[in-house]
Amino acid sequence: MSIKVAKFGGTSLADAGQFQKVKSILLEDSTRKYVIPSAPGKCHREDTKITDLLYLCHAQLQHKVGFQHTFTIIKERFLNILKELGLSLNLNTYFEEIEKNIEAGASIDYVVSRGEYLNGIILAELLGWGFIDAKDVIYFYPNGSLHIELTEEKLKHSLSSRKNVVIPGFYGALPNGEIKIFSRGGSDITGALVARAVSAEVYENWTDVSGLLMTDPRIVQDPKPIETITYRELRELSYMGASVLHEDTIFPVLQAGIPINIRNTNTPKDPGTMIVSFANPIAPQGNITGIAGKKNFTVIAIEKNRMKSDISFMRKLLTILEVNNIYFEHLPSGIDSLSIVVTDEQLENKLDQLINDIELQCDPDLIEVYPNMALIATVGHGMAYTPGISAKLFTALADKGINIRMIDQGSSEINIIIGVETDDFESAITAIYNAFVN
Ligand code: ASP
Repeated sequence: MSIKVAKFGGTSLADAGQFQKVKSILLEDSTRKYVIPSAPGKCHREDTKITDLLYLCHAQLQHKVGFQHTFTIIKERFLNILKELGLSLNLNTYFEEIEKNIEAGASIDYVVSRGEYLNGIILAELLGWGFIDAKDVIYFYPNGSLHIELTEEKLKHSLSSRKNVVIPGFYGALPNGEIKIFSRGGSDITGALVARAVSAEVYENWTDVSGLLMTDPRIVQDPKPIETITYRELRELSYMGASVLHEDTIFPVLQAGIPINIRNTNTPKDPGTMIVSFANPIAPQGNITGIAGKKNFTVIAIEKNRMKSDISFMRKLLTILEVNNIYFEHLPSGIDSLSIVVTDEQLENKLDQLINDIELQCDPDLIEVYPNMALIATVGHGMAYTPGISAKLFTALADKGINIRMIDQGSSEINIIIGVETDDFESAITAIYNAFVN
């Protein structure tokens, strides 16, 4: 029997109106059997997420400033949702217990996880569905890393005999029973783990956008939505900043071959974006899937005569980077030259030391530093084995008078990464988009 797992993000459950939308989405398709809620997010731009208010409560207690006022705001948000939904559920005993535990110095993980916990209880009541506390099915090792095998076993065991269940996102338990959370945005991971345990046909991730767009709408007006994207393409784009999902979401479902469908709770008819394991074989050749980019890179260009025949050169260079705790984005090379492309963030206060070390240990003929670089990745399985793709891309840039400072194409041919001056960033993305899409 086909099963869908649906995770709803904070904005999808920010108020009673949003809860009603979630309810109709769930009831509209009886294969949606398991639901993972986040805590209520922002109702409007100036609003504060419940999780942030809970972090504040914990900080206030640490600094010995009363947290009661903040806790009252939290209670009111939940009570308002209940009232507007017309539910008679009494949350007082939950509130009292949580308040008592905070006062008694409960861990930060416990405190901030209560948003998901309470939201799960409300959603289960609204739907008339069962509720499983995530602490009974999501397990961590004592060192805080996820215990995937045990989690899978517990989830399978608990869910095999139960359908229509709410499982709060974002947290689980350590072996001693204490609450442990994932990093921020971690309800995505809970959903992925549930989807994998029940061998879902699809993992629906409901949010406030209708999937991914081909590029940043702040740069290109009304970019086309991406209907289907592979996990690999998404990785290539997300490292450039186009991230919609928690990074660790993909792995559990990727392994199990379960597609992720990003959907919009506010426009549920939109098909959203389907993230799949493999390229769609009928993807039109010559097409790109998306364009993403990031500013603030520096290129350190090194030249040395007969660099290639100095077999210890690379080892020395990589050791210098390691010792200085710097990771690089790209390392394009020529016969006697090599460039290290790093984010400015990585280089912060380390540039002088790095240059010094390279000069001393690698004995180059020349080192030059070029700041203000922006990288742009053009990504798509449809580009592979298609002659003319690069020509199209570079012609589009040349026509706009944009100078390309670096080129890197992975051997899989699913991405072409170029480096341009920061000032050319927006016009380069627009030129590439227009060349392939319009
Ligand atoms: N509520 C948590 C956060 O704000 C977890 C989540 O939404 O996935 O990060």
